[in-house]
Amino acid sequence: MTVYLIHFQTKLKHAGHYVGYAARVGQRLAHHKDGSGARILAVCNERGIRYDLARAWEGQGREFERKLKNCKNAARYCPVCKPGHAREYKPKV
Ligand SMILES: [Zn+2]
Repeated sequence: MTVYLIHFQTKLKHAGHYVGYAARVGQRLAHHKDGSGARILAVCNERGIRYDLARAWEGQGREFERKLKNCKNAARYCPVCKPGHAREYKPKV
């Protein structure tokens, strides 16, 4: 699985990112774009908020996804928010 980070060009309320995971990120993104994916991204679509895939971590799954969601500061890992300073994620083995 691949965990991916989507950066919103304009914040939706307080949300500026979406974290998800999928086997095929491209396919999942297509679902987000046509509104049949995550609800929050469907709302972005409705409001005309643009968003892009900022980063993807291959070989990661639910555990990492949850970690990113829980840390509430996905911006730390986002190369769009922190060009050149995005934090690396090193999973504990
Ligand atoms: Zn960002």
